[in-house]
Amino acid sequence: MDLDIAPADEAFRAEARDWLAAHVPAVPLPSLETAEGFAAHREWERQLAADRWSVVSWPREHGGRDASLLRWLLFEEEYYAAGAPGRVGQNGIHLLAPTLFEHGTDEQRARVLGPMARGEAVWAQAWSEPESGSDLASLRSTAVRTDGGWLLNGQKTWSSRAAFADRAFGLFRSDPDAARPHQGLSYLMFPLDAPGVTVRPLGRLDGKPAFAELFLDDVFVPDADLIGAPGQGWRVAMSTAGNERGLTLRSPGRFTAAAGRLAALWHEMGGTAGTALGERVADALIGARAYQLFGYAQVSRLGAGGAVGAESSLTKVFWSELDLALHETALDLLGPYGALADGADEAPAHGSWADGYTFSLAGPIYAGTNEIQRDLIAERLLGLPKGRR
Ligand SMILES: Cc1cc2nc3c(=O)[nH]c(=O)nc-3n(C[C@H](O)[C@H](O)[C@H](O)COP(=O)(O)OP(=O)(O)OC[C@H]3O[C@@H](n4cnc5c(N)ncnc54)[C@H](O)[C@@H]3O)c2cc1C
Repeated sequence: MDLDIAPADEAFRAEARDWLAAHVPAVPLPSLETAEGFAAHREWERQLAADRWSVVSWPREHGGRDASLLRWLLFEEEYYAAGAPGRVGQNGIHLLAPTLFEHGTDEQRARVLGPMARGEAVWAQAWSEPESGSDLASLRSTAVRTDGGWLLNGQKTWSSRAAFADRAFGLFRSDPDAARPHQGLSYLMFPLDAPGVTVRPLGRLDGKPAFAELFLDDVFVPDADLIGAPGQGWRVAMSTAGNERGLTLRSPGRFTAAAGRLAALWHEMGGTAGTALGERVADALIGARAYQLFGYAQVSRLGAGGAVGAESSLTKVFWSELDLALHETALDLLGPYGALADGADEAPAHGSWADGYTFSLAGPIYAGTNEIQRDLIAERLLGLPKGRR
């Protein structure tokens, strides 16, 4: 692999850096897990989109810049290095959009992608159910055929930012008589303010109110909002899951920037080389750099026609464990101040270390737990026999 970045790609990076330097808010926006922060982040999405920075790798007709995946990686490095706000549109942009590019119709892409890119429609993922998380194929919510569409019933849970989002994409059992649980599922989009939808916030460790569960009571969805063929939802969902676990949701830039901030913090706190904490800081830097190089390798493989595949499980375990170790190290460096979250007067870095730590605790769980990912790595990448399920 050639690690030299071409001048045109460097020019793209410089353009992104200049734009971010001119636009990133000087004071961090309130948390996107609150109503106020959600609105502020939606406005930030609009600003990004106005200058075509919200979805750089998408085609221009949908608001992107037709940028290569390498350029997307470079953009993300600049984005996180600039300390730019978190992306409230991430579930739509990184999960639903790639699914629509692969399985949607032209009409769906034309209707859904523009408002998503501009932050006008923020999407929630409605997959998990109270008894169907890891064993997602056991889900029980139903989609029943009706005139011109489907009626949705059931309960979805653990839906990130659904308390404030506009629309959701979910999996529903449309054929209860299918021979196997993975068959007979359909993938549908629905508005969260539709008649029959109740959104109820779920408590989170940090007390923020955006996480929610959804109750669906005869919610009508037109045929136009079915993605892929009826009963083929599992196949479509696996394309979403690959993106969720892989690079796009958690780009390397996020970790190289965080590891850089950790190293700066270590210096600021007068850290001494050769200590256990110093070694953990070095490990975080090495881990972030390794993930960055893996990212470059992966986009060059994809550019040459390769697919993401089971390697996304490897990526998922790596980024989630790196995030956790990095934040644990920061809190150990900060001592008691590290526990101060945003809003507290003396919170270091506006509480971002404490917030990042609580969020990193969830990394080994969401996007498919790391236990399940390790099973997939064992079976699909190492060729080991199937474990007991
Ligand atoms: C912060 C956060 C955000 C989330 N956001 C969303 C969202 O936006 N939309 C959405 O649909 N879902 C979301 N989820 C849900 C998430 O995908 C599920 O929590 C996850 O898939 C695990 O499912 P579960 O919670 O039902 O745990 P379970 O499946 O009940 O698992 C419990 C434990 O048992 C282990 N386990 C289960 N089966 C096996 C097995 N066969 N082999 C080995 N170990 C096993 C698991 O690894 C885990 O440690 C989110 C979760 C969190 C924490």
